This record gives sequence, structure tokens and C-alpha cells, in this order.
Amino acid sequence: LPDPDVAALTRADVEDLLPRPGNESDKYRRGVLGVAAGSDLYTGAAVLAVGGALRAGAGLVRYAGTHEPVQQVRAHWPEAVITPLDRPSIEHVGRVQAWLLGPGLGTGDWAHELAARVLASDVPVLIDADGLTLVARDRSLLRRRAPVLITPHAGELSRLIGVSRDDIEAARLEHVRRAAAELGVTVLLKGSTTVVAEEARPVRVNGTGTSWLATGGTGDVLSGVAGALLAQGLGCYDAASVGAYLHGLAGRLAARGAPLTSAGVATAVPEAIRSVHGEP
Ligand code: AMP
Ligand code: MG
Repeated sequence: LPDPDVAALTRADVEDLLPRPGNESDKYRRGVLGVAAGSDLYTGAAVLAVGGALRAGAGLVRYAGTHEPVQQVRAHWPEAVITPLDRPSIEHVGRVQAWLLGPGLGTGDWAHELAARVLASDVPVLIDADGLTLVARDRSLLRRRAPVLITPHAGELSRLIGVSRDDIEAARLEHVRRAAAELGVTVLLKGSTTVVAEEARPVRVNGTGTSWLATGGTGDVLSGVAGALLAQGLGCYDAASVGAYLHGLAGRLAARGAPLTSAGVATAVPEAIRSVHGEP
């Protein structure tokens, strides 16, 4: 029997939910995403997250980071507006409609301070990767009024809710629901299928992906895609499930039966959006 508390997102749902620019649109109103990601050790995560966000239609991406990732983001994405940071503060970044926090950020004091500043803002925040490690260690970071979307794989969720990775994998729907209720956030749990849970909503299951996505950096692209949708005004639940749908489809288009790279997944996101709209 079908579980009434589980729903799959259809192509038609995604088409309805996907923002499209109109005459009244300008880059600020289309959604400005702040990206706090990358570190001198991990520059690629920042490049991939910014790329995912730009390809998913953010009006503007504001990137804030240290010297090395700033150099790399600048080289790959002249479209991004960049604030080099010499201390962990976002006061000079400018106004954003949502933040993406965490991929490649590191987990030391500097990263913790930057995470605290981002989470003290009054806009929705998507937390991934190192950001999740910081939050697992210091749960008080999650005390805020504005919405939070977390995008863990089973290992990252394990540290957040104190349940083993194997137990999570054996009962993904149950644990993703419980995590959303206990943490008071929207949870997108990654894996061979992606499931999205928010309190009082059916769990959304996404099956558009491909196992070729099991390679480094694809999660960073997903965080950028879902972050851009948050900045464009979708709620956490819709941003997460539409993001997972497009990312999975982009993975299929990038792979077509052979290995993909995470940068290739980002490149294929516009094609995924085009196919949702049924345009040539
Ligand atoms: P991360 O774990 O952050 O590196 O993200 C990996 C991305 O690849 C997520 O979007 C996963 O859902 C996806 N992924 C990983 N393994 C598989 C798989 N076997 N089948 C489909 N998607 C996968
Ligand atoms: Mg990851």
C-alpha cells in the first residue's frame, strides 16, 4: 500500500514551483545568495557551490572567503561578487536573501565564528558539509528565528542525531522525519535516493538521480542549486525537493551512461531546467 506520508515530486510539480523571470525581474529580486564556503585547504567546494547556484538561476551570488578560495572563485566565476575575508565576519558582504554555509569551510575556530555570524542573520540558511560538523558540535548555532535547511549524507546526519550510519541507512524515512522534528529544521538526506522531511509535511522522495553521482563534489553542487532556490524565495521544503530533482536530472544528463564530474553536473543544470519546462 502507498504510504500517505510519502510523496514523490512530479515534473509538473517542479515546473509549477520553479521560478521564472518576468518583466518585473531584476537581479536583486531574482534572488541574491550569499556563499560562505571553501578554505585555503579546500577551494574546489567553493567553486562548485557557486557554480551550482549560478546555473540554477540565482540573480546574484555573493561569495565571501579567504585568499585561496577567493582566487579560485574569481578565476572560475567572474559573475560572482566577491568579498575577501581577513577575519570571520560578513558585515561587508551586502544584502542577501539566503545563505549557503559550509562546503569546504573547515571546522576550526575561524569557521565556527563565521558560521555563528551567518546563522545570526535573519535570512534562511542552507547548511552542508563542514557546516554540519560545526552544528553537531555546537547545537546552539541552530537557535535562530529564520528557517534552516540541512543537507547531510547519512554519515553527517549520524553525528547530528547520535544514530549510527547503518541504522539510518536501514530506516531512512523514519530517521529523516525524526531528525526534522528533533532539530526543528528541514532535512534533505542524500544517498542513492534523496529524501526531504519537514514537520507536518509528507516526506518527499526523489529518484531522478543516477549512481554516477557517487563522486567527489556533487554534494557541493547540490548545495548551490538548492541555495539558489532558497534565495529565489522558495521555502526550505520546496527548495530542497526541487533542488534534488534538478540535481539528479542534471546528473543523468551529464552522465548518459558514463562517468560524470561534479563540474559537469553544474553545467547540465540549465539543461535540466529546460527539460522541466519542456523547451527545446
Ligand atoms: P555528498 O555525499 O555530499 O558528496 O553528495 C553526493 C551526491 O551524490 C548527493 O546528491 C547524493 O544523493 C548523490 N549520490 C551519491 N551516491 C549516489 C547513488 N548511489 N545513487 C544516486 N545518487 C547518489
Ligand atoms: Mg558533501
